[in-house]
Amino acid sequence: MPALEVAEKLTILADAAKYDASCSSSGVKKRDSRDGKGIGSTLGGGGICHAYAPDGRCISLLKVLLTNSCIFDCHYCINRKSSNVRRARFTAKEVVDLTLDFYRRNYIEGLFLSSGIIRTPDYTMEQIVEVARSLREDHDFRGYIHLKTIPDADPELVAAAGRHADRVSINVELPTASGLQRLAPEKSQSRIEGAMGTMRSAIEDGADARKRFRSAPSFAPAGQSTQMIVGADAATDRDIVSRAASLYEKFDLKRVYYSAFSPIPDASTVLPLRRPPLMREHRLYQSDWLIRFYQYSPQEVSAAADAATGMLPLDIDPKLAWALQFRDRFPIDVNRAPREMLLRIPGLGIKAVDAIVAARRWRTLRMEDVARMTVSVKKLRPFIVTADWRPTALLDRADLRPLVTPRATQLELFAA
Ligand code: SF4
Repeated sequence: MPALEVAEKLTILADAAKYDASCSSSGVKKRDSRDGKGIGSTLGGGGICHAYAPDGRCISLLKVLLTNSCIFDCHYCINRKSSNVRRARFTAKEVVDLTLDFYRRNYIEGLFLSSGIIRTPDYTMEQIVEVARSLREDHDFRGYIHLKTIPDADPELVAAAGRHADRVSINVELPTASGLQRLAPEKSQSRIEGAMGTMRSAIEDGADARKRFRSAPSFAPAGQSTQMIVGADAATDRDIVSRAASLYEKFDLKRVYYSAFSPIPDASTVLPLRRPPLMREHRLYQSDWLIRFYQYSPQEVSAAADAATGMLPLDIDPKLAWALQFRDRFPIDVNRAPREMLLRIPGLGIKAVDAIVAARRWRTLRMEDVARMTVSVKKLRPFIVTADWRPTALLDRADLRPLVTPRATQLELFAA
């Protein structure tokens, strides 16, 4: 095979990286080179792959694979051994040079690096770590680095990744052990979880050491994350919500990312022919937010799913679905209810709830006051009581759901 130019490799390997959703940079430590030392910054700027933090901050990353060759044959993956795609491979130095070059041109603020497995997991991990080491130690690069780590690699190598990266991630891939066994038979849930457990301990030890000794080196200060493919196996939304909740708890993850399975060229016959609706991925992210920021338990979110199919509704968000299922918890008096109850009101985001809590210290709120804090009065009207409004029989109406369901073309968000 003729040697490829770096630009050609970049075209192939940046395209191959697009299936990985887990590159948000939330929680990253602020670091820059404004004192004239080093190069790079984790703050501000524009660039190539945009990842959004929960606070809305955007960070641009060079998102690329070291290679799209792989000795594994995961059915859902375009880079699997049996896939008929054009292959390419960067050297560690090429990725380092590209990162620095793109940074200097202000294209990026950091690097998201993953890889297919070449030769062995250890060899691949060595190459990934070498990129991060060289950026940090040879070039004093202070930008953001997110490394995808390989669960089967030597723990020493995974630890080395954590010493150089801001964030590390290990993909659990499928929501269930049976799905993983069927679609990625060379991977094992116990090995993946073992590596995530080791990583959690190392991150906690690192944070602890930093509290006691300011000079202690940082270890993956932006924590670890993971990704699950949605719709490639038979797992229901209820399975996925419950699996994500247990991963957050067991491994103190910063994020679980969901990636709607998309049929790949030359797909394996064990895969579904059609991708799941993208809205399904969106609803799972919303359910994730309910648990992380709205104080819902995983069981409560699961209760919003259809009892027979275990799937969250696609036409309404899970918070509204929960409210419709548990109408006896409503209406909620916005002038009296505690903050955690206000967070349950469909159409009210965290900012709106905090604004209500602040405003009601000074005056009794009327419907028009609440209306100013939301884009969706129609959605919350049946669920609240204000000084001048009480929904009376509205909550008991058999046709309440269509009354509060947004038009099909409208993509509604939590933050009202
Ligand atoms: S190990 Fe990773 S790159 Fe290789 S086939 Fe599986 S998912 Fe794809």
